[in-house]
Amino acid sequence: MTQAIDRLAGSSTLSQKTFTALQCKECGEQYGLGAKHVCEDVCFGPLEVAYDYDAIKRQVSRATIEAGPHSIWRYKAFLPVETDTPIDVGTGMTPLVKANRLARQLGLKNLYIKNDAVNMPTLSFKDRVVSVALSRAKELGFGTVSCASTGNLANSTAAIAAHAGLECCVFIPADLEAGKILGTLIYNPTLMAVKGNYDQVNRLCSEVANTHGWGFVNINLRPYYSEGSKTLGFEVAEQLGWELPDHIVAPLASGSLFTKIYKGFNEFVKTGLVEDKAVRFSGAQAEGCSPISQAFKEGRDFITPVKPNTIAKSIAIGNPADGMYALEVARKTNGHIEDVTDAEIIDGMKLLAETEGIFTETAGGTTVAVLKKLVEAGKINPDEKTVVFITGNGLKTTESIQSHIGEPFTIEPKLDSFERAWERANTLNRLEWQQTQV
Ligand SMILES: *Cc1c(COP(=O)(O)O)cnc(C)c1O
Ligand SMILES: [Zn+2]
Repeated sequence: MTQAIDRLAGSSTLSQKTFTALQCKECGEQYGLGAKHVCEDVCFGPLEVAYDYDAIKRQVSRATIEAGPHSIWRYKAFLPVETDTPIDVGTGMTPLVKANRLARQLGLKNLYIKNDAVNMPTLSFKDRVVSVALSRAKELGFGTVSCASTGNLANSTAAIAAHAGLECCVFIPADLEAGKILGTLIYNPTLMAVKGNYDQVNRLCSEVANTHGWGFVNINLRPYYSEGSKTLGFEVAEQLGWELPDHIVAPLASGSLFTKIYKGFNEFVKTGLVEDKAVRFSGAQAEGCSPISQAFKEGRDFITPVKPNTIAKSIAIGNPADGMYALEVARKTNGHIEDVTDAEIIDGMKLLAETEGIFTETAGGTTVAVLKKLVEAGKINPDEKTVVFITGNGLKTTESIQSHIGEPFTIEPKLDSFERAWERANTLNRLEWQQTQV
């Protein structure tokens, strides 16, 4: 009920369309606002949504945003959707947590976690991009929606399509984690498990998009889809009290999320919602799929595609579409891109759980492990206001962590059985404690 009222209140001020064209990121050529993602008339560069920022500025203020819905749609003026009733399943406005215990462990003083492990409805940041893409798909008249996914996107597309009453057929690599497959099938879409890696799935989907006329959220709808990631940046700025952080650390798969947080911060500056500030952008990859971090560390201006081999499957994209743009953002903001081993990823997941009570998936383990590595290398100043983006939930990737955590003490329903186990537990804890002291 309150949400419905919020939405009505929002719509009266946000009804004017603020996005104006699809524009090539390379040559600037403009296209109409249809389902299109490459600059096919000129240079085959990627298309991005362009806005009339003066119009946005006239429509929004801190106060109108704060009075908006408790979801990504409070930033509707910055999103490429016309309708006043976009698909709102409560996506966004996830917690920004001051991470004091993790900070102390790492030697930092001003650390925050943006926790999209509890995003709605499917517990990953992908709910943001899909809420935007499917809202746009509906207004463009698509009846069937689809995606090429590393796991989380399939969950999100299937769930939100179900809510919106859209037909759904999604594609994943066949070797995904059980939680990702189950977390898709429960919504009863058609699920294609492709015997190949993500990059092969993606190529297949480009062909299907051409022959079937479906709305692929991350192919022909990609310009709209990718704008959804800006809301991570908007929320962080608002949750910090309308201020930008000094440094952000985020995972890189295609590189889109990373570049869109950057775009989001800039849009808030451009429209006068926050003061301008130099924010450093650092990116995280798994060593087993690190084409962007390899290019960064070797000072290259091109990405060499790789074949993924890592437990961090949700960010295992060997040929990242926005890799070059992510490189550019890290370089021009004086940030870094680093990668970590699978063992470090597991340690990162455990470290975050044990210090902050947040159970993230392998992608989040990657990000925490890269944060640690950057701090140890002196690449993050302890005083910098640093925000780490946790993008997915650990319950979806249990097989990666299963053999690296403790086991329960199985006991009889008797007091003496408990006492014996308790003593054993304390001995074990003492040993562990002593080990951490040497
Ligand atoms: C998809 C995904 C990302 C990053 O995606 P980009 O392609 O770089 O936008 C990060 N974390 C998780 C958990 C994901 O599912
Ligand atoms: Zn172009």
